[in-house]
Amino acid sequence: MRILICGGGVIGASIAYFLACRGIAATVIEGTGVACAASGKSGGFLALDWCDGTPLEPLARRSFALHARLTEEIGGDWGYRRLTTHGGYAGIRRHTCHHGNSYDIDWLSAGVRVNQRLGTAETTAQVHPARFTAAMMRAAEARGAKLRLGRVTGILRREDQGRVAGVQVDGETVEGDVVVIAMGPWSILAAAWLPLPAVFVLKGHSLVFDTGTKLSADALFVEYREASGAVQTPEVFPRTDGTTYVCGISGESPLPIDPADVTPDPGTIERLRRMCEDLSPAFSPAKVVAQQACYRPITRDGLPLIGRVLGVEGAYIATGHSVWGILNAPATGEAMAELIADGAARTIDLSPFNPGRLPVLDPARLRWNSMR
Ligand SMILES: Cc1cc2nc3c(=O)[nH]c(=O)nc-3n(C[C@H](O)[C@H](O)[C@H](O)COP(=O)(O)OP(=O)(O)OC[C@H]3O[C@@H](n4cnc5c(N)ncnc54)[C@H](O)[C@@H]3O)c2cc1C
Repeated sequence: MRILICGGGVIGASIAYFLACRGIAATVIEGTGVACAASGKSGGFLALDWCDGTPLEPLARRSFALHARLTEEIGGDWGYRRLTTHGGYAGIRRHTCHHGNSYDIDWLSAGVRVNQRLGTAETTAQVHPARFTAAMMRAAEARGAKLRLGRVTGILRREDQGRVAGVQVDGETVEGDVVVIAMGPWSILAAAWLPLPAVFVLKGHSLVFDTGTKLSADALFVEYREASGAVQTPEVFPRTDGTTYVCGISGESPLPIDPADVTPDPGTIERLRRMCEDLSPAFSPAKVVAQQACYRPITRDGLPLIGRVLGVEGAYIATGHSVWGILNAPATGEAMAELIADGAARTIDLSPFNPGRLPVLDPARLRWNSMR
């Protein structure tokens, strides 16, 4: 079985890894670079039970367990560790009433009130997402998978149209029996090639600071009121590599067709910087080592698309993981490997994520600039 996985983000790399563990060597085709998009620029925060009570619960719980197992199984350092997670508020406070006693985290500014324990070291953890994705890809390659750099521009079908025959990569034909669309937000491109539902996007901005290794393993979700009155919800994750990642402020600009063209919206990084200066003296502008933006892939009902593409044999999709793509990548990869190799997923019931549950996007409506 020749398997072609389109997209080298955390989802594509995880599918390649779990297939490789079963002795099936897939080829991952990545247009820009492994983890060049959200899989390299996200928070990497993991939670055991924050999806409980939703259809994502089994996927999240299985993934949380797999993240812990993978550190032993693969070996290597991608900054996996358990965290304590807190909620609090900061900024200009008006018309807000916050209950509960606040407590201190020593590296936060005095104006930040931390008043909620949202997770413990049993229930929350983190990875450095770019390193995790790269490690999954490397581990897949060590077991036989291939990484091919090139942009997928179309899908080839057999003469009767009922089965995939491969993909078009930079004008070249690459033959395959199975094609998996795992291009994150750019999976919308594949709606022109296959009967697929729409994938929408939400842009997020982030800063990474060089903070040294003295910040405690405490993650923070803050409600922050800007001087304008706008409420933002920055997320703060100190990492094991001596950096701290802070994301916040959604963006409005549409998804560019080339992942290399994703840039922060004008003025947004400055706003995020001001917010960060308020949150901690450790977040001074001089300590910024990265300022970036990325897009979450989102579906109409908020659940990912994981499974077969109806009506085209050999075509599969795994995308739309929204804010939980890093968390949910391992169980997605494992279940997709089972589905492709055995015909059915065993570890997770994929039926809530069946792509066939949502209406197919009419390719004629695929106007690139409005895809957000
Ligand atoms: C600001 C922010 C913070 C986040 N924080 C967290 C978090 O703390 N925890 C969590 O679990 N999730 C988080 N997420 C969500 C998570 O990052 C995403 O759900 C996840 O990275 C999506 O992975 P993916 O592989 O589907 O897509 P992507 O990472 O977007 O990868 C898609 C890949 O496909 C490639 N590609 C695109 N078009 C083509 C083509 N034509 N041919 C070949 N390759 C192509 C791209 O170059 C890219 O490498 C966050 C997201 C954002 C934006």
